[in-house]
Amino acid sequence: MSSRPPSKPRGLLLVVSSPSGAGKTTLCTRLRSEFPRLGFSVSYTTRPPRPGETDGVEYNFVTPAVFQEMIARDEFAEYAMVHGNMYGTSSQRVADAIEDGHDLLFDIDYQGGHQLRQKFPDDVVLVFILPPSLKELERRLRGRGTDSNEVIERRIRVAREELRHYDEYDYLVMNDEIERSYDALRAVYLSQVHTRQRLAPMAEQVLSGQEQLL
Ligand code: ADP
Ligand code: 5GP
Repeated sequence: MSSRPPSKPRGLLLVVSSPSGAGKTTLCTRLRSEFPRLGFSVSYTTRPPRPGETDGVEYNFVTPAVFQEMIARDEFAEYAMVHGNMYGTSSQRVADAIEDGHDLLFDIDYQGGHQLRQKFPDDVVLVFILPPSLKELERRLRGRGTDSNEVIERRIRVAREELRHYDEYDYLVMNDEIERSYDALRAVYLSQVHTRQRLAPMAEQVLSGQEQLL
């Protein structure tokens, strides 16, 4: 190795994308409850809040004008138009998490995942959740009971588009049986946290005889 590793492990950026209804929320909620150290990246969006959503929790809800000002000030690590609304991730929050060694979970689409990969190639892991089939996706969307017929049909159409981008991801998790799918997502997270590249600072610490920083 030519240069010394940094003094502590960097935070991991875990991006999880899927067509709506594939089970991303179910899987990610479980991952976050098992690993509270995994923070959630709260995006900015111009879409209005849905019933039950709180500003600053699911999203930071802003006007299109505010969103444009943030673009002009270069405050986004990534941003994209999704289903007619703008969504973006704060650069500052991402940079702080990497430097402070805090892992962050991102519920963002393939456009956002692609941009984060360009900006933070050493820190991003991209996971795509696949539904077992489009028929099963439709069954789950109907079963969830949150969308009208028209919205469900649109989501299925969009799902085909989103699925085409699977090859831009590092890992695919087929969400057929929930326990098995959760085990797979958990395994991806844990294995990525434990790469030699990320944990080199820990080994250096042991070698130097210092107290654990983690
Ligand atoms: P997303 O966040 O991707 O839109 P959700 O997590 O809301 O998806 O899941 C959509 C619906 O499918 C929910 O009703 C959820 O309970 C159900 N679901 C999730 N995973 C599975 C699974 N493996 N098998 C059957 N139903 C599932
Ligand atoms: P929803 O409005 O249903 O919460 O999210 C719609 C879509 O926007 C989802 O596919 C979600 O992953 C994506 N999304 C949410 N936040 C961001 C973001 O900050 N950037 C990008 N690129 N996509 C996002």
